[in-house]
Amino acid sequence: MTAEIKSEDFLREKISPHIKRLIEEGNNAIELQFKSLSKKLKKSSFKFDPLAEDTLYSPARGLTHKFSNRLLWKINLNCASYCQFCTRRRQIGLENKILSRKDIKKGINYLYQHKEIEDVIISGGDPFCTPKATEFLIKEIDKINSVKVIRIGTRLPIHSPELLARKEILSLMKIISKISTKKPIFVLLHVEHPSELTHMAKNFIQSIKKTGAIVLSQTVFLKKINDNVDVLASLFTGLYHLGVIPYYIYRCDYVRGLEKFICPIRKEMLIMTKLRKTLSGIAIPTYVIDVEGRGKIPVPLNFWRGTNLSECNDFDGKKIQI
Ligand SMILES: *Cc1c(COP(=O)(O)O)cnc(C)c1O
Ligand code: SF4
Repeated sequence: MTAEIKSEDFLREKISPHIKRLIEEGNNAIELQFKSLSKKLKKSSFKFDPLAEDTLYSPARGLTHKFSNRLLWKINLNCASYCQFCTRRRQIGLENKILSRKDIKKGINYLYQHKEIEDVIISGGDPFCTPKATEFLIKEIDKINSVKVIRIGTRLPIHSPELLARKEILSLMKIISKISTKKPIFVLLHVEHPSELTHMAKNFIQSIKKTGAIVLSQTVFLKKINDNVDVLASLFTGLYHLGVIPYYIYRCDYVRGLEKFICPIRKEMLIMTKLRKTLSGIAIPTYVIDVEGRGKIPVPLNFWRGTNLSECNDFDGKKIQI
């Protein structure tokens, strides 16, 4: 359980040298993601943790076990830069930024006791920001026969691609190579705008691909940043041409502090519909909304008549208001 959040400006600004350079070159789409524009949060009905990651579904520190066959494991709360639209802005960069070996052992025991978990999603923060801990964790998970798939989420190739040269990162890459010959490892990149795919970022992504890991990407719809057909067409095509499969595009979570990033749902739906008409199916991510406590529900595209975008059925068939 996370302690009650008292500070009103808890996600401070952290901008890596690489991102800083892009901002200085006049990249507005990047600046809007990382520059902290206002310190005080406006009054809002949104919660800090609407998906209840840290309460309802957390059997041990760092773990969120919401779906029986999949486990989300937040190994740290640190990133090379802080995205102001982060869904976990309530905890990124706060104290106890990294799980101890003891915490990790507890999680490993939980995996041994829960044979129904076949898929472990290592997230954070950014697991590539603590390569040693991530290496330790994937080596431990590798020994557990009931876990068939490992996923690692990262934004490091976008934030600080120069860190590819670090000894610890190279060592993590080696372990990924080794394990991925036995168990599939999916690396989930987080990319928001085509201008993030710089030469150096591409180089980092190519190195991940060389390990044998399957590389996917995730994107969040962000107002004034990527809520545009041409921008997203260029992003998804760029990823596809790199051999990266766009996996999800999320509607921005209704998290306190993210109000200014949320686009109208109808606009998003129409953008995704247009993209579906022109891009390869492989380059089209599934457009989902992570509904409070329910799961990632696909938003319908505008091909069928009479769809109501203000309510949907959850995974149990219960009607919910969006
Ligand atoms: C998103 C998520 C997953 C993984 O869902 P997939 O649809 O399999 O990618 C697992 N656990 C939690 C808590 C999640 O939020
Ligand atoms: S990289 Fe991910 S976890 Fe880190 S601040 Fe950005 S969105 Fe949040």
